[in-house]
Formats: sequence, C-alpha cells, structure tokens
Amino acid sequence: MKKIFLGIGILSSFMVNAQLYNPKDAEMRPEQTEIWEPEVKVVESGKTNMDAPADAIVLFDGTAESLKQNWVNDTKEAPGWEVADNCVTVAMGAGNIRTKMFLEDFQLHIEWRTPAEVNPEHKSQGRGNSGILLQGKYELQVLDSYNNRSYRNGQAGSLYKQYAPLVNVCKKPGEWQTYDVIFTAPRFKPDSTIFSPARVTVIQNGVLVQNNVQLFGSTEYIGLPFYHFHGPEVLLLQNHGNKVSYRNIWVRKL
Ligand code: MG
Repeated sequence: MKKIFLGIGILSSFMVNAQLYNPKDAEMRPEQTEIWEPEVKVVESGKTNMDAPADAIVLFDGTAESLKQNWVNDTKEAPGWEVADNCVTVAMGAGNIRTKMFLEDFQLHIEWRTPAEVNPEHKSQGRGNSGILLQGKYELQVLDSYNNRSYRNGQAGSLYKQYAPLVNVCKKPGEWQTYDVIFTAPRFKPDSTIFSPARVTVIQNGVLVQNNVQLFGSTEYIGLPFYHFHGPEVLLLQNHGNKVSYRNIWVRKL
C-alpha cells in the first residue's frame, strides 16, 4: 500500500511540475504512468436521452451526408467511417476523423457504443477503445469498462492518464452511452507559455464523472502531459482499431 501512495505522490509532483518537465529527456515506459489502484467504484446509471437544443450545431445527425458535411479524415479527405442505422462506426484502416469546425470553449453531447460482441482475449485497453479528443489534443477516453479492469486513469470517463472518472458508470457492451462535456480551452501568454490550463467537466450517462478538472497538458501515451501553444482546434474521434460507434453529436459554442 505504501508503494501505491508513493507512486501516486511521485506522479502528482511530476504533474504539478509538468511545465518544467522536458519530455525529450523522457525514456519512460507506458506502464510508468498507469495507475491501477484503488479500483473505480461501479455505479449503475439511469436512462438518458438528449436531443439537440435549438442553438446547438449538429455535427452528426445519423446521415452519411451530415458526416461528409462536417467531418474529414487525417488527410483532410472524406471520412471513411461507416454510416448505418443512424450511427457512424470506426472503419479499419480509415484513420481518425475530425470536425471541419474549429472550437474553443464548448458544450458537447455525444453518444457512443462499444461492440456487443466481446472477445475475452481482448482485455484492458484492447476492448472497445476509441476516444474523443477535445481540441484534437485532450483525450476523453472511450472504452468498454464494463467488467473490464484497466488502469483507472485510462478507463472510460477518464481524461486519459490525467484523471480517473469519479465513478465507473459504464453500461454493458452494445448499449448506447452518453457523454455531456463542458470544455474551457487553455489560454496562452504572448510568449506561448500557458496562462490558464484547460478545464473539463464530463457527465456520463447522466452521472458526473469529471468535475471541472484542470488538465496538465495534451494527452500523452508515453511520458507526462505538457502544453503546446495552440488556438481554436477541431474535435477528433479516435480510430483505435475497435468498431466503436457514435451518434447524435452536437456542440454549443460558449
Ligand atoms: Mg482511446
């Protein structure tokens, strides 16, 4: 137990000093930034349904036309993901998709579903992995975290490798889930260093899982997060090689 607290302590002090940290010096392994204990408490959600309000910008309404109109792939061409049954699904080899629209502060509603069929050999990060990258840089993790342990700061509802969700409110694989996100973009000083960090609130399936947390920088798989100067940026959906689906995506610029 002492070891766990020591580990968390060291990681948090690195996080606090993230701006002083030079990622080029890092020779770290992915496991060094994974936190597994204690396990996030499981909570069963109620039923939710969220239609776009009148002032929302609908980014995907379930049609192929809407996908083409609002999204592009990594090379800024038409997105190759599959549209069927009112949703869009990750297509193998088609890369990520991103909005044509650039966003700063916003409210986002998005619904997602991990594959109903679970291969028991696929565990932890290998099951229903995708992600919603706020401003293309700050990953809100999408993962099948229903009876599927992974590191707590990498499960569904986490801000990947920065904040574990307050509870695990994941529905079963194959069921639709919702994220409602309030995002305040980071602001930078004239010399490009950080002035105020990004802040994020996330409600998953009607339950608060991230309460106005301050990000330490852009999401890093290896090493510690840090801020690079940027202006308004896109919303990006990650292709992690699992057939995750999305539907009913809308934003309100704040
Ligand atoms: Mg992911």
